[in-house]
Amino acid sequence: MTDWFAVSCVLNGTRLPLTPDERKAVVRRLEHRLINHGEPPRLTDVTVERVAELLGCTTRTVERIKQSLPQADRLSCPICREDMWVLLEDGIVEAHPDTFYQRCPMSGEVFEADWEVELANTAVWLSQRLKAGDVLGVWEYLETVQTSHLRRVLVAALAGFSDEVDPFSWLKEAA
Ligand SMILES: [Zn+2]
Repeated sequence: MTDWFAVSCVLNGTRLPLTPDERKAVVRRLEHRLINHGEPPRLTDVTVERVAELLGCTTRTVERIKQSLPQADRLSCPICREDMWVLLEDGIVEAHPDTFYQRCPMSGEVFEADWEVELANTAVWLSQRLKAGDVLGVWEYLETVQTSHLRRVLVAALAGFSDEVDPFSWLKEAA
């Protein structure tokens, strides 16, 4: 289990103990901003020294972690809209968090422009966010998407209802 909140804290400069996977996640998120010695830095650049400081390790360890990361394209996730990394080798999406530091359902999936899978995943993700109590976050998401997308998500969500159990039992329990 990756503690995405801890990863985010470290990225923001708060030192926390991280697992090897979480360290990798930090380096992955800074990879495209890393500069080598001698290059003139831009405002958003970070040095290997700075990453080592964040992780509480040596620059050599940072280099080693960086080398161990499989090549990937950085894209915007079609579900949670956060950054995601798609491995060049097999098209699998690396595990990544949504805005609420929960594992996004695109994690571990093969990324392809398959709108049906994307819609189903979006409906499941929104349902999980609601059940976790994040009504405002879901509302915000639905307000920002295009109407045509909204309609498709609604149809996918309705089609996903199960007849066997009361789909709203979680809501009744919360009331
Ligand atoms: Zn995502």
